This record gives sequence, structure tokens and C-alpha cells, in this order.
Amino acid sequence: MEKKFQFSLSYLFIALAIFILLQNWLSPQVNNVSYSQFKAHVAEKKINSVVISSTLLKGYEKIESDKKEPMFPKALYVTPRIDDKNLVEFLEKYGVDIIAANENTFLRTLLSWILPTLFFVGIWMFMMKRMGQGAGGMMTLGKSKAKIIAQTDLGVNFESVAGQEEAKVELAEVIEFLKTPEKFTRLGAKIPKGILLVGPPGTGKTLLAKAVAGESGVPFFSISGSDFIEMFVGLGAARVRDLFEQANAKAPCIVFIDELDSLGKARGSGMMGGHDEREQTLNQLLAEMDGFEVNKGVVILAATNRPEILDPALLRPGRFDRHILVDRPDLKERVAILKVHVKGITLAPEVDLEIIARRTPGFTGADLANLANEATLLAVRKGKDVVEATEFEEAIDRIVAGLEKKNRVLNENEKRTVAYHETGHALVATFRKTAEKVHKISIVPRGIGALGYTMQLPTEDRFLMSKTELLEKIDVLLGGRAAEKIIFNEITTGAQNDLQRATDIARSMVAMYGMNEKLGQATYLQPANQFLQQGLFQQKEFSDQTALLIDEEVRKILEERMVLAEKTLVEQRPLLEKIAKVLLEKEALDDEEFKALLG
Ligand code: ADP
Ligand code: ZN
Repeated sequence: MEKKFQFSLSYLFIALAIFILLQNWLSPQVNNVSYSQFKAHVAEKKINSVVISSTLLKGYEKIESDKKEPMFPKALYVTPRIDDKNLVEFLEKYGVDIIAANENTFLRTLLSWILPTLFFVGIWMFMMKRMGQGAGGMMTLGKSKAKIIAQTDLGVNFESVAGQEEAKVELAEVIEFLKTPEKFTRLGAKIPKGILLVGPPGTGKTLLAKAVAGESGVPFFSISGSDFIEMFVGLGAARVRDLFEQANAKAPCIVFIDELDSLGKARGSGMMGGHDEREQTLNQLLAEMDGFEVNKGVVILAATNRPEILDPALLRPGRFDRHILVDRPDLKERVAILKVHVKGITLAPEVDLEIIARRTPGFTGADLANLANEATLLAVRKGKDVVEATEFEEAIDRIVAGLEKKNRVLNENEKRTVAYHETGHALVATFRKTAEKVHKISIVPRGIGALGYTMQLPTEDRFLMSKTELLEKIDVLLGGRAAEKIIFNEITTGAQNDLQRATDIARSMVAMYGMNEKLGQATYLQPANQFLQQGLFQQKEFSDQTALLIDEEVRKILEERMVLAEKTLVEQRPLLEKIAKVLLEKEALDDEEFKALLG
């Protein structure tokens, strides 16, 4: 873009230079003389004819008889015209032929009028084009710029994606469908139209989508959500229509929408009402997704790292109703990713990928690819034949410094704290009857806020929750901080999100579900409207006294449950220590490993 801009600008300068030269060339080559000298030349009979214009006198030796100023006259002498009443008389005295200049010649009009106009029109068009480049072009009405081209032969398959086993398992069905749609349609099975890949940037979401296309050998349409947001209203929607038209023509195929969140933010979420253009585009996308038949063979994959801000309408059944978590890799996965990215590199034999992986917690696939590349560049710069461990160390330090600024890596101390914190959640969950089973514990940092996480699977779909369940949920949430308190006799900010969720539950119990003796069966809070910003328009419909009582009761519940969570962990301290240590080592434990450690 930058380069193109300079390129066009130099054209403009060339045009300007030509313009100036042309004007110079067209203006007569003359001797400029003073008025007196001019008259003297007339007196000396050096001048036979004079062309008088409003500003100039031009003296010619001889002029053709048609008495017109020639197109390209070669005047001998030129002088500025002076208000001289005797001039005509003087000229006639010497028998000079007097010619009035024809000042409205075509050429002059051209020079003084049309060329500058053309020049400015040129600049204007150039500016419009530049403006249009970012946004689909004003003239093209959005059709041609992003003529979204289907890619085939991407050269990417599941082997190019290391780790991400869960995501691969989930996507395998889609591949199966794209390969043999008949098998599915014959049995009337429905394949999901839209699949949302959720995870931080650089974890391989795009790569996975391409791999699905590669594995199933279908065309791959790719576009970013931000591409849809146009400068001119209506173009985004037109582009969506265009995209789906093409996809339908090429089915079976994959449509990949990167950064879905920039297009699919919840409507009406801004304070100033919605963004008109984005809303139109989003509506068009929803309409298109509803429009095509389920088994037509178009599968839409979309990626986002902020699923929470997506418009709920996007997540309804028949749209992006299936979500796949594409998370930062754990130790084992990092080794596998490194293996993929050192394939083309000559490594010194002593380089141990496992050691490198150990040193890079929190790195994404993209960070690791970058690491392999940086290390190679360093080796080249040093004139080495092979990439040695020192280059990797150096490259890690560099990248970590960059990531630390973005708050994405944990130091050893933090890792230890997070390991105990997460184990605390998991153990409390294990020792509560109603709590959901632990599915995975990880201390690999995720998005902003959550340092580690304990994933629990619901044992069954729940519509009703008992008081006991809610209380035990609070126990589990408080288990993280309880573990920190017991082991380090210190608490950290890492529990913020847990506390918030625990408080929400406790407050709902007291003020919404009528589960508190003091407040009785009355409800004081309405469920939050997901379209309105929470709390913004909520009216308080109770006295300050009641508010005080609610706060008190919420605090009481949290304090009581904290004591219970701590009690559990103190009793299970040996397990807490043991599991936290393994977790620190492995960074992630799945349910099998966790169960084995429980004994
Ligand atoms: P995202 O779409 O999630 O932001 P990408 O798919 O664009 O991430 O990943 C960027 C690059 O990082 C990929 O081109 C690839 O080189 C590397 N990468 C990411 N994840 C993996 C992985 N699991 N295995 C191998 N390479 C990966
Ligand atoms: Zn926690």
C-alpha cells in the first residue's frame, strides 16, 4: 500500500514536469526588449509587423498575408505594452503592419483552462482511488475489490497442525461430510452449518480451517470480519451476498470468516445505538446462513478470540451453534508444534525440543513458529551451519520480553501460585457431591484475566439447580483462593474472576431465587437483559435497608463457604501438594491423569 502510493505520486510529478515543459515550449522564443528599444527597432525598420495584445507587443520581421497571428509565431522582439496613445501613429509612420492579437485561440484556452482542469480531475480520481482501496472502491460498489477467490490446494492438512487433538476430533466429522455428503444426506443427518473456533490469536484457528479444506479437498473461501465493514453503507451486505453466491456455486466448500467479532458484535451494544453498517452486514450474514440448505455442502468456519461479545443471534441453532476451543498449547503440544516448525532447519544434535518447550509456557503456535525462525536467523547472522541451543535461548529471551509486555507469560513464582490455585478448584470440585466432574486443569495462560483454568463438565443437562448445588458451586469457585491461602499464607489478584462469579451466584440466591431466610421468598432482582448493558437501566425496586441486608447476606454466604472450602483443602493437603507439583511439571492434566493422581 505504502509502496503503491509513492509509485502513483511519482507519476503525478512526471505529469507536472511535462506540463511545465510543454508550456515553455509553446510560448514563443523571443528577445525581451524594453519599450524604447522596441520603438527603436521599429524606427530602424527591423520590424515589419506588430501584433498588439492586451499585455504585449510582438514585433515580426514579416507575416503572412492572412493577417492572423500564426500558431507558433517566432516574434523577434517582445515588450510589455505601455499605455501609449501615439503608438499606432508611430507604427503607421514607419509603415508597420498592425495586427490585433487573436487572444481566444484554441491553444490558449487549452492551456489556461482545460489542462489545469484535467490536472485536478486527475488528482481527484487518484484520491478517490486511494480512499477506495481500503474499502472496496467507490466506483466498484463492493463487488470487484474483494472478489473473493476460492483457494484450492492449500498444501495444509491435519499433519501441519500439531496438537489441538480435541479440535481435530470435532472437525473430523465435518471432513467426513465434505468428502462424502451422500452418506450423510441419505440418512438424513444434519451437519452443523456454522462452527466457531474460539481461542487467542496465533493458536492455529486459521490453520485448522485450512487443514479441514485440505483434508477434504474442497475449495476454501477466506475473508476477515473487518473486511466486511465498509466505508459506505450497504457494501458490507453486498459483499456477504457475493461471498455466499460464490460459495453456493462451488459447494461443497468451506467459508472461513476470521475475526468474526469485528462483524458480529452484539447489536445495539454501544451507548449511541448500533453501528448501522455493521448491523446491516450482520443481518445479511444471518439471512444467508438461514437461507442455504443444511446439506448443500457449504460449511462456515469462523474464528474469534472474544466469543463473549458476539451477538447472541449468531450463536442460535442453525448458525454458529457449535464451538470448538482452540487453546494455547501445553508442554506436550509445544514439543509437537516445534517439531513441525524445525522441519526445514538443520539443528545441532544437542538441541532438545523438550527443553525449549519447557521454557516457553504461554507461547502460541505462532509464537513458536516465530521462535524457530528467529533462532535460524540468529544462526545465519553468526555464520553458523547449524542452529544451536544458544540461538534458541537468545530468541526465547527476545520473544518473552515482547510477550511480557503483553502480560502473557508467567514467571516461576506465578506459575507455582497458579498451579496450587487451580488444583484447589479441582480438589474442592472432587469432594463435593453435586459438583461437575473435572475435565481438564491447566496453568497455561488463556485470555486476559484467567491465568489458568479448571474445566468442569456438566454431568447432565441442567434446567433446575438446587440450593445445595449453588452453594457447592461457590465452594469450587472459592477453592482457588483457599488453596493459595493454605499453601502460601497469602492471597493474590488471580481470584478476581472466581470471586465475581461466586458473588453473582450468592447474590442471585439471596435476591432472585428466594433462598435466604432473612429475605424470604421475595425477589429483588430481575434476570439481566442480555441486550442491555447490565445494570445500566436496571431499576432498584427495594429500600436501602433491604439493599444493606442483601449485601450482608451475600457476604455471610461467601464467608461461610470459604471456611468450608478451606476445610476440605486442609484435610486433603497431601493430595493438593502432590497434584499441584505434577501440574506444575506438565502444565495440563486431563481427567484421566487427574483421576490417577487422586488414587
Ligand atoms: P489464528 O488464526 O488462531 O490467529 P493462525 O492459524 O494464523 O492463528 O496461526 C499462525 C501460525 O502459527 C500458523 O501459520 C502456523 O505457522 C503457526 N501455528 C499455530 N498453531 C499451530 C499448530 N498447532 N501447529 C503448527 N503450527 C501452528
Ligand atoms: Zn480460579
